[in-house]
Amino acid sequence: MTVLGMPAVPPRGSGNLRGTEKFPAAAHHELANTQLRRNIGKATHTIRAKRLNVTDELPDWQQLRDAGAAVKRDVLGRLPELLIELEAAVVARGGVVHWAADATEANAIVTDLVRKTGSDEVIKVKSMATQEIGLNEHLEDQGITAYETDLAELIVQLGHDKPSHILVPAIHRNRAEIREIFLREMPDVDPDLDDNPAHLAAAARKFLRRKFMTVPVAVSGANFGIAETGTLAVVESEGNGRMCLTLPQTLITVMGIEKLLPTFRDLEVFLQLLPRSSTGERMNPYTSMWTGVTPGDGPQEFHLVLLDNGRTAALADGVGREALHCIRCSACLNVCPVYERTGGHAYGSTYPGPIGAVLSPQLAGMDTPGDPNATLPFASSLCGACFDACPVKIDIPSLLVELRHQKVEHAPFGVEAAAMKAASLAMSSSRRWTAAQKAAGLGRLLAGRKGKITTLPGPLGGWTEARDIPAPPKQTFRQWWNSDEGRAALAQAREKGRQQ
Ligand code: SF4
Repeated sequence: MTVLGMPAVPPRGSGNLRGTEKFPAAAHHELANTQLRRNIGKATHTIRAKRLNVTDELPDWQQLRDAGAAVKRDVLGRLPELLIELEAAVVARGGVVHWAADATEANAIVTDLVRKTGSDEVIKVKSMATQEIGLNEHLEDQGITAYETDLAELIVQLGHDKPSHILVPAIHRNRAEIREIFLREMPDVDPDLDDNPAHLAAAARKFLRRKFMTVPVAVSGANFGIAETGTLAVVESEGNGRMCLTLPQTLITVMGIEKLLPTFRDLEVFLQLLPRSSTGERMNPYTSMWTGVTPGDGPQEFHLVLLDNGRTAALADGVGREALHCIRCSACLNVCPVYERTGGHAYGSTYPGPIGAVLSPQLAGMDTPGDPNATLPFASSLCGACFDACPVKIDIPSLLVELRHQKVEHAPFGVEAAAMKAASLAMSSSRRWTAAQKAAGLGRLLAGRKGKITTLPGPLGGWTEARDIPAPPKQTFRQWWNSDEGRAALAQAREKGRQQ
């Protein structure tokens, strides 16, 4: 499938979609940070409880989830036609539409548009798409300063840090750390600033107000784009986004092509699903919508950059297609036992947590040797909590299993592939299986008196780096079944059955 304006074989995504370190090593490092674990544990538990409160109170929550999944399925089934419809609607209302195949193209388009305004500053609404393409870094290289206006994003930016959560990017920071960052990095900050949250917010507000009133161009993402009307929607909690969307002369929106909804009415479903799943609120404090340009009201120039960056490639793949249903609510992060312990930085990608473990390999690929993205599908216990929490019913555990399978398939000479082939050979013959079970008894020697194997030799060592293997039992089930004890147990069970 190709999308208008895109080459027949679109490139994989680029930008901040691939870390430099493999997940196990990065997770090992992050696990040593007890402050981070405390901060994340506290925050995720709080949001989780709030989410359950507001989802449990809706008698039709499951039907809403079904409706959300059905709309997204429909969108991805006819994406090219809906994108053309959106483009026509935006243009008809005075907007300009740009198509970007990857991060490089998107960054170049935005830079060019900002330059044309004559400004060397932009204010930004929180946006995953612009993080994905590394827009701030690119603008900085081009001599343009981008100011994040979402409070948590501002903390991350001033701290020269990376976001660690989709919704709460500074979830890994506590208020003492935030105070230190503000005192160090915020111009004209009160030197007596304490770590009272209200005082910290007031300091940020004072700093940002100056930018809202003076910077003539804003860059945003979009939670939804409505094909029928050309309307873009952003939901947020602070109102800073709305300032960016209304005050500047020029507004540039970068939106992933999968963020479409066919009709305005479809918003009804998603404006219930998203706030309840993300912040645990019944509705978002600020829902901003705009359609093209309105003379004398708001930005007088509006540009929409439609970003592919690996999405068309993902769309062609069953796993990738389902991952594109994601509405970035972050509910799956907040329930994930792995995320809760490692935090978001260990994933090394714009998208952390369970959905990041699926989405990042899908958008950027995981086929190059030693690719850190190839370790992400293994960053899960497959407990299924993410599936239960997902408002659009993405079956993340099954997608992770499929990606693991693809990874093993793509590495036919690797240790895992060899192990799988050996297991398959042993299990396909009862004689070989019995012999293998006898050989497994040797493991008892390795386990010794501790009753567990803590290190394996060679490439198998990777398995025991993070876990111990229990010693094989003295007797296999088959041996027990054929023993006097097994036969006596069977006779006893039969007798009990007769009496009942
Ligand atoms: S996968 Fe589902 S739960 Fe996770 S962020 Fe996306 S929509 Fe939310």
